[in-house]
Amino acid sequence: MIKHEGGAGFTILKKPQTPARIPVGISSCLLGETVRYDGGHKFDTTINTCLGEYFEFRPFCPEVAIGLGIPREPIQLVRSGAGLAVRGIKRPDQDFTRALTGYGVQVADDNAGLCGYIFKARSPSCGLRHVRTVDKTGKSAKRNGSGAYAQALTQKRPNLPVIEEGALNDRHVRDNFIEQVRVYHRWQQLLLQGITAARLIEFHTCHKLTLMAHNQAAYRRMGKLVAAAPAGTMDETGHLYESELMGALRRPATRRSHTNVLQHLQGYFSKHLAPDERAVLTATIDRYRQGEVSLEMPLSLFRQHCATHPHDWVLQQTYLEQDA
Ligand code: SF4
Repeated sequence: MIKHEGGAGFTILKKPQTPARIPVGISSCLLGETVRYDGGHKFDTTINTCLGEYFEFRPFCPEVAIGLGIPREPIQLVRSGAGLAVRGIKRPDQDFTRALTGYGVQVADDNAGLCGYIFKARSPSCGLRHVRTVDKTGKSAKRNGSGAYAQALTQKRPNLPVIEEGALNDRHVRDNFIEQVRVYHRWQQLLLQGITAARLIEFHTCHKLTLMAHNQAAYRRMGKLVAAAPAGTMDETGHLYESELMGALRRPATRRSHTNVLQHLQGYFSKHLAPDERAVLTATIDRYRQGEVSLEMPLSLFRQHCATHPHDWVLQQTYLEQDA
């Protein structure tokens, strides 16, 4: 399928294949399930309209899962010594911390296939950060807590891409999350096959441009890690690589870093292009640099040139598959 975009005078090819939908955990109230303490839900339009084509949602409601009913009495985070406890607001003697923490560990253990998680913000169970906490008297509120379930799950799966629903309203943040999930999914596929030095080199090679766009220093460290990978057991190298990989992707790519990558990519095609094609490519990258067009414009040009002048290394790059 071919798509046209006005103004640039060239044809844009469709992006490469859309991957199968990737399993992503989610606070079930965000999908519209009526599981909240008051019997309501928190249906999120952005999630339900923009992300369904990428993700196969696996909903979890920890409060329902530990046996609290619908409706139920509300709970809150209470500062207790150096830690936090989840207690009933009307009945502070009820402590749900252990049950919610245990369920977070259980979900992490039983759902190894999850490649991301979208949490409901501000919840004493599901909120990732800045959740309201109170002191033992129920006063002195601060926004400095993490939900007990979310904290347990993310401690068990520290490299899992996670986000709260509100952040997904920002297109740039949303695209970055989708990219993190896709890369993490590919990494999980590699682990399922069994990690070897050859497979790690191949994975690293395919993600070179993506990593360059996010974090050049991490990319270089990872290159050294891959080059020094032992022929035998890869467990330790794999753990280190995964940490570097997901840490690098958490830093969003910028217009400037994308421009550097596009100019690097241009070097692979320059000698094959006619002068007018070269000029259009250079001008398009420059228009992207100046914020006049989206990243999709130069990426589409590169896909088009790839079709005419196939280059093995460039065709391997996952960078060209991204939505932009
Ligand atoms: S925020 Fe979490 S615990 Fe609360 S209703 Fe939603 S899924 Fe359930």
